[in-house]
This record gives sequence, C-alpha cells and structure tokens, in this order.
Amino acid sequence: MYVSENLNVNEKGNLTIGGVDTVALAEEYGTPLYVMDEDLIRSNLRRFHESIKKCYRGRGEVHYASKAFSCMEMCRIVASEGDGLDAVSIGELYTALKAGFPMEKVGFHGNNKSDEELAFALDNGVGHIIVDNISELERLEKIASSKNKTAHIMFRIKPGIDAHTHQFVMTGQIDSKFGFALETGEAFEAVKKALSCKNVKLVGLHCHIGSQIFDIAPFEAAAKVMLEFIAKIRDELGYTVPGLNLGGGFGIKYLEEHDPVPFEQYMERVSAVVAEECGKLNLEQPYIYIEPGRSIVASAGITLYTVGARKEIPDIRTYVSVDGGMADNPRYILYQSEYEAVVANKAGEERNEKVTIAGRCCESGDLIGENMPLQHAESGDIIAVLATGAYNYSMSSNYNRLQKPAVVMVSEGKSRIVVKRESLDDIIKNDV
Ligand SMILES: *Cc1c(COP(=O)(O)O)cnc(C)c1O
Repeated sequence: MYVSENLNVNEKGNLTIGGVDTVALAEEYGTPLYVMDEDLIRSNLRRFHESIKKCYRGRGEVHYASKAFSCMEMCRIVASEGDGLDAVSIGELYTALKAGFPMEKVGFHGNNKSDEELAFALDNGVGHIIVDNISELERLEKIASSKNKTAHIMFRIKPGIDAHTHQFVMTGQIDSKFGFALETGEAFEAVKKALSCKNVKLVGLHCHIGSQIFDIAPFEAAAKVMLEFIAKIRDELGYTVPGLNLGGGFGIKYLEEHDPVPFEQYMERVSAVVAEECGKLNLEQPYIYIEPGRSIVASAGITLYTVGARKEIPDIRTYVSVDGGMADNPRYILYQSEYEAVVANKAGEERNEKVTIAGRCCESGDLIGENMPLQHAESGDIIAVLATGAYNYSMSSNYNRLQKPAVVMVSEGKSRIVVKRESLDDIIKNDV
C-alpha cells in the first residue's frame, strides 16, 4: 500500500516493515531510528546476481556499491550472498576487512585516492583498483613495485553518455571529475601506458553513468561505447581487456508515481546489446561486473522520527517538526530529493493533509520535504520516512553535534541493532 512492497499496516493501524511493527520499534530503540529490512536487501541482491548469471551465462558478478549503505553487518550480508563489494575510501575498505569480507572480491574506487589508501589496498589483497587518472596510475605503479606486487587495475572511463538525471549525480559526460575521457584520446593513452607498466595488470574497463536512472537506453549506449573501445584496444595495441564493469545507477521508487524498470529487464536488454556488439566486433564477451548501490538498499530502509512541534501558519503552510533532519538525511538539502512519509501510528488513515516536515537543525533548508501528503500529525506521533535505506545513514553527519541514530535490521519478524546509537561521549571522544 505504501511505496515499498515490504511495508504494510497491521491490525492496530500501525505501519509495519518486513512484518515488524514500526511503532514498537520506535518505542524499543528510540528515535530517530534507521530501520533496514534484511530480507528485502537479500532478495534484491539475489535478483541482481541471478539475473546477471542468467544473462551472461555465469560470466559476471555483482559488486554492491557500499557507499550507499556501509557497516560491518551489511558487508557480512553481501559476503554471505556471495557477491562482491565496491569501496571508495580506506574507511569503506577497513569496514569490509574488519567484517571478514573476502577482499579479492572488492573493487576500490575513487577519483583522488591517497598513497596510503593505494598501499592499504595492495597490502590487504583488494581484487582490483579502478584507476581514475594518470597520476594515480604512476603512483600505483611505484607503490606496487616497491612492494614487489602486481596491482590489478581497471580504468574508469567517461563514455560520453548523458544519463538524464540530476546533474550532481550524473557522471558519464566529459565535464566530470571522474575518469578518463574517450573523445580526447586520454583513455587510449592511459591504456597504452598501463600496458607498459611492469607492476600493473589491466584487467578491465569501468564506466558508471550516473544514479537514479529510469531509462535503459543510456546503459545500452554506454555498453556499446565501452565494447567498441575494447575492440579498438585489441586492434591497435594487441591486448584484449578481459573485464567490463558497467557500473550502477538503477532507479528506484521514492514516490508513488515513480515507475522504475525491474532489474531483470535492465540486465536482459543490456546483455542483448553486449552479445550483439561482441558478435559485430568479433570480440570474446568480457567478464561483466555491475555495481548497484541504491537499488539494493533504498527501498529496504525507513527512518522513524518522533513529532515535536507543529506550527500552522495560516494561508502559508504547516510545519511538522521531527527529532532528526539533515544530519541523518541530507538528501533534501543537497538535491531536493523527494520522499513519501506516513504517520506510523495512523498508517491506516487517509493522508489528507499537506505539510512541510522540518528537521531540528539550525538551517531553514533543513527539511525532509515540502507539500507532503500526511495523516494529521501531532506531538508524540511517529513519522516514518520511506525508502531512506540508501545515502541516508552513509551521508549522515554530527551537525549541531547531534548523535547519529542507531540502525536496526529486521528479518523474519525479529529486530536487532547493527549500528548503535551514538552516545554523548561519542560526540566528544576526539576532542582534546
Ligand atoms: C555511486 C556509484 C555506484 C552506485 O550507484 P547507485 O546509483 O547507488 O546504484 C556504482 N559505481 C560507482 C563507481 C559509483 O560511484
């Protein structure tokens, strides 16, 4: 009845997630609270990896983009499903390592990796490093050589595709801080250089064209461009790049009117393009990687808040203030991202008001959303903001010295803490 299939209303009229009463969760663990449905996360991972196995006849794998939601328990879940991980910082690598994640199934990303991070990746057996620029290639060659190791690398390529999404999350076009441009010959020169490096082995090419994309066409276009580049490298440099990473960016349903393409359909359509192009180019089909982040976790998560003040400004608007905001969900202030919200303890009633849900931070822009349909919310009610599983906890901050909320995982009707709520002492723990 609400945006995600795992949400329902029970006999008390309370919102449930994965069958668990959200009002009871708020009571037990306090608010603000992130709640993640483990069963839905696992089912999303399985849909992707089963579909990639089927479409590429076993020659492909899923690397969950951990920046969407990273904590040790999430790494354990991904590992237990047999999937890989994409990490973009030493912090994400460390989280995976400490969770016992098989590091050979990790891809290390980032447009500005430090020497320390590159060394850490090599020392800990990270599967491959996705190199973003020439200086990184040069530094990596030096570090690998000093350790007498061979670094397996992919190159991040800008395929020159416009993905029709918000400009802050669009990454495939030439004016982007990420990767090597194809049009200018920069990418080709980098490949040439890598092939001459003694301590670097080029195992793949990578592209990621953006995020929250609803069309399949840009993914098809990117796959085509990348395969043509692999053929060009083979023809002109005599080397067949064995792997192709097609990135993530699959759109999800935040609002009732969103109509995302089922993952399986992306996979079928893109794999058909890959097969056709490989035939045309007389190319052996590369090993395929995909890197979904948002589409694995977004719909699996909600955030619970307690309502405090309600302010009705006649003929202007009604503000409903909650005990969280931009510190736990900065996506509205960053991108004006829209969400649906529900009064969790009145979830069976009609949403017949339109209100602005405001956070508690000292910024007028600290809103969860404006003009949001909601049941009549009063002080003490619990508000659930839906589809907050991606880029909420992972983008949270301690602004105004707020404590980061706990993360609770629900599975098979039970709940457990996977990230503890920060204490006041956590807030001052690094203060000298
Ligand atoms: C962010 C990112 C992803 C995941 O994007 P989603 O939109 O969350 O699926 C995958 N690959 C790279 C390189 C990224 O930067």
